[in-house]
Amino acid sequence: MSDVLDLLLVFPNNRTRAYGTLAAEVAAITPPVQSGLTAAYVRERGYAVRILDADAREWLPERVGQEVAALKPRLVMVSTDHVNSGDVTKMAAATETVRAIHAAAPGVPVLLEGVVPSAYPKWMLQDEGADYVCQGEPYDPIVKLLAKLKQDGPGARVATREIPGIWARYGDDLVESFRAPMFHEVDKLPMTAWDLMPPSDYRAHHWHCFDRLDRRSPYASVFTNLGCPYGCSFCSVNVVAGGANFRTHSPEYVMKELTLLNKQYGVSNIRLLDNVFTIRLDLVEELCDRIIAADLGLNFWAYARVESVRNPDILKKMRKAGVRWLAYGIEAAHERVRAAVDKPSNPQIIEQAIEWTKEAGIWIVGNFIFGLPEDDLESMRMSLDMAKRFNVEWANFYCAMAYPGTKLYDQVKAAGVELPKDWAAYGQYSPNAQPLATKYVTSKEIVAFRDAAFREYYENPHYLDMLEKTFGRDARDFVGRILAHDLKRDG
Ligand code: SF4
Repeated sequence: MSDVLDLLLVFPNNRTRAYGTLAAEVAAITPPVQSGLTAAYVRERGYAVRILDADAREWLPERVGQEVAALKPRLVMVSTDHVNSGDVTKMAAATETVRAIHAAAPGVPVLLEGVVPSAYPKWMLQDEGADYVCQGEPYDPIVKLLAKLKQDGPGARVATREIPGIWARYGDDLVESFRAPMFHEVDKLPMTAWDLMPPSDYRAHHWHCFDRLDRRSPYASVFTNLGCPYGCSFCSVNVVAGGANFRTHSPEYVMKELTLLNKQYGVSNIRLLDNVFTIRLDLVEELCDRIIAADLGLNFWAYARVESVRNPDILKKMRKAGVRWLAYGIEAAHERVRAAVDKPSNPQIIEQAIEWTKEAGIWIVGNFIFGLPEDDLESMRMSLDMAKRFNVEWANFYCAMAYPGTKLYDQVKAAGVELPKDWAAYGQYSPNAQPLATKYVTSKEIVAFRDAAFREYYENPHYLDMLEKTFGRDARDFVGRILAHDLKRDG
């Protein structure tokens, strides 16, 4: 291998922007697994790679630019986020980082990849300054692009549709491509390059460690499946694939990574990164049996969907394997509101899933969204009251955003609804957060309702007593410290 660095994978920093004063103590520091998987895949094919997690290091774009100038890689890949709708709030940091790299290291080509770049490659090239965009998963497209750059030098030109997934810009000249095919045999993907992004750099969500707040690091995330078979209109998880694209790892594959993380890096706090962990219950059961037999003492959290939890016994087994937290996207209490975003979960099934989960001894994160298109003040109140009635151990309250790349975005854009003009306004905690206005409530009313709902939930003695009884005084005090931070909102 030569001394030339072929690929620098950059995860841009938007922690302060996304979480404001909560960034320092409260917000999790999550590993950019998509960068770690791409790094491992490209390295396996003989290229020299490094990861610069500017988010974990809290490096501003200018500092990243200086580092790129010093390293002079053949290519920089700036990733947003494949996993969450948070991708959109990464866009501000990502585009500032692209510009800072161009200023500090002219001639080093920069590629953007992630949810929004996959949805709008032309926009990213024309307006956001990228030299290349990857549409679809980046594994093979990046390897092919590096081979081209290595062979033809920095002046290499990619032709139209030459590399599936790779769009390019040379001055004003745009070179189009098409979405790269998805990687189907996911057990053939190498494990995340944890040596390039050590789990000691990361920190679990505070609630995930309510019973161990002094041990939030090290922290890691692992996929057991990729994609999601559902199609909720507000959600961006299938945008990179261009549609529902569900793939599973074998339990052997997952066990190998869990064992490495535990034995080599001392990790016990792990997020199962799947959009919905509980789709293939046969695989979940087999994985749980293996984890129980290995007795690694792990502390997992995972997303589930209420319909996918089809029997209480699997929940008991999951708890035995260390799945201590399940996050349910309940979104809204009113059926009309859920149905309008293609998530028509049956109310009895929601109640039953919550009851079974509590009975299994698994703690619950309830996710609720205020301001979905059919929401009015009364239905938003119903959602808050539902969260309070369930008295879940943690509740996330979000404002509905029409994230670019989603079906909802296309719907509201076609209807002429006003959308944010800058990326930061998609940030849930941004001062200028601008959620979708509905027929019944304004954007400002939704933000105000969400912020008041957060206080109402977490100041409620019924909740705080449950929290202290379950996790001890430290957890109650931690929530008190969160409440001491006032979210700054414009206007
Ligand atoms: S079930 Fe969850 S992950 Fe899947 S599309 Fe709906 S909101 Fe997204």
